[in-house]
Amino acid sequence: MSEHDYDVIVIGGGGAGLAAAVSAAERGASVILFESEGELGGSTQESAGMFTAAGTSIQKQLGVEDTVERFFQHYMDLNQWLLKPGLVRRFCELSGPTLEWLLEIGVEIPAQISPNAHTPGLTRAGVEDVWRAHVPKDQGYGLVLTLDKARKAHGIEVVLHTRVERLLVTDGRVSGVVADGVELAAGAVVVASGGLAQDRTLVERWFPDALRGGDSLFVVAAPGSRGDHLAFGEQVGASVAGDGWGLMLPTAEFVRHHHWQAGFPPVSRVHVNGAGRRFMDEDASYAVSTGQITSQMDAHDAPVWMVFDEAARLALPAGYADWDAEKLLDHVAEGSAVRATSLEELAGIIGVPAENLTATVDRWNDQLPNGSDADFQRDQTLAAKGSTTPPAPIGSTPFYATRVLPAELVCTHAGLEIDANASVLDQQARPIPGLYAAGEAGGGILGNRYVGGGNAVANALTIGRLAGQQAAASA
Ligand SMILES: Cc1cc2nc3c(=O)[nH]c(=O)nc-3n(C[C@H](O)[C@H](O)[C@H](O)COP(=O)(O)OP(=O)(O)OC[C@H]3O[C@@H](n4cnc5c(N)ncnc54)[C@H](O)[C@@H]3O)c2cc1C
Repeated sequence: MSEHDYDVIVIGGGGAGLAAAVSAAERGASVILFESEGELGGSTQESAGMFTAAGTSIQKQLGVEDTVERFFQHYMDLNQWLLKPGLVRRFCELSGPTLEWLLEIGVEIPAQISPNAHTPGLTRAGVEDVWRAHVPKDQGYGLVLTLDKARKAHGIEVVLHTRVERLLVTDGRVSGVVADGVELAAGAVVVASGGLAQDRTLVERWFPDALRGGDSLFVVAAPGSRGDHLAFGEQVGASVAGDGWGLMLPTAEFVRHHHWQAGFPPVSRVHVNGAGRRFMDEDASYAVSTGQITSQMDAHDAPVWMVFDEAARLALPAGYADWDAEKLLDHVAEGSAVRATSLEELAGIIGVPAENLTATVDRWNDQLPNGSDADFQRDQTLAAKGSTTPPAPIGSTPFYATRVLPAELVCTHAGLEIDANASVLDQQARPIPGLYAAGEAGGGILGNRYVGGGNAVANALTIGRLAGQQAAASA
């Protein structure tokens, strides 16, 4: 007779938790999963499901040559070697096999080049050395659906509406959890409770850069992202990795939704700094654009502005929550966008030198509408996104400007520090027996730079799967 109720208890039913539960069951463990919300999925379900992985069958079918070594080098370089190489190498080694595992259990990723995060296939986010971002059919929802089918096939019990309160510890080993006041014993526990984006106090402590969004700050991470992993970790003296890091996306001042609902800014737009100068590819990858914008905000101690014209406003497609031609006039009325009859007047309102702004727009008009961008190579970014016609010039009056700032909080990286077996480490970097963590709750893989094109989903599912295997073995 087993001493515990289950071999493995999984806390959280997003991507990491489902991957952990299924892989533990594949190893013969009895598993139960607790989910605080009324449905499974967490942020994973909200995501595009983009998954970064090297040396996959999809890449091979498309003739993309890629290796673990190459992925590792790119990952570490982009993160300025601020992460532990042993852990990152393990992640790079396992991401490809995890993607193959997902394909085996039913995730569909067609072997076709995709121009964006919405079309299934192989795409890129703009900072990869090779195309490495795998977009599944039905995106994050598709991943969760398939993992949940596998979960059901293994008979893994799920308890919804149940927020695990704390861990049980026996003789220095994590031995179960308390949920709804009930104690449940297990051979091992996997913490997969996601990030901390929804808890303002924890954001202030662990990701204060997010506060640069000011009044425009909004959170798209799932409601369950309350940082419970940190309380579990504190209970057992766990170390935390990823302090101060997370992913913010730059948006216009008035935007309050992820781009699928918000809509998209006009293609014919130029971003200018406090000197009225252009400084970036306006479509730069989300992996680097926040850094580009905040560095200009700091350098000039002034906002960054997006400038566009009346033709661009009128061309906005209807039906989106924020980027809509009529709603833009409301934004002007309420002060989150400004309008002027000339660029000189606009420059006066936004506080940049008029001669610089007009020169910037002239240069933009000389280049982009002719299909080139000698300064920032945006023509290449547009082509990679599948754009076939160059943007129209910026020139029809009135002109508009709105601040661009990092205000959309997507995910956080401060998690319980793990080793290359997904074991949670204590303050002396020793594994805490019986405790594993994965996804945003596990720290050490998501770094100071988001490795675009599926970094966080790959982390959740790859380390989730590893944690499930290790937990099953240790139980
Ligand atoms: C809109 C959006 C788009 C994104 N797009 C991408 C993308 O395309 N590619 C990419 O790589 N990343 C993307 N990300 C980030 C990525 O989705 C997440 O980092 C990743 O899915 C997190 O997985 P997770 O399993 O750690 O957490 P989650 O998927 O959030 O799962 C955690 C679960 O734990 C539950 N929980 C929390 N506390 C408890 C508790 N105490 N007891 C029980 N249950 C609990 C939560 O309710 C939640 O269901 C996106 C994020 C968002 C919000």
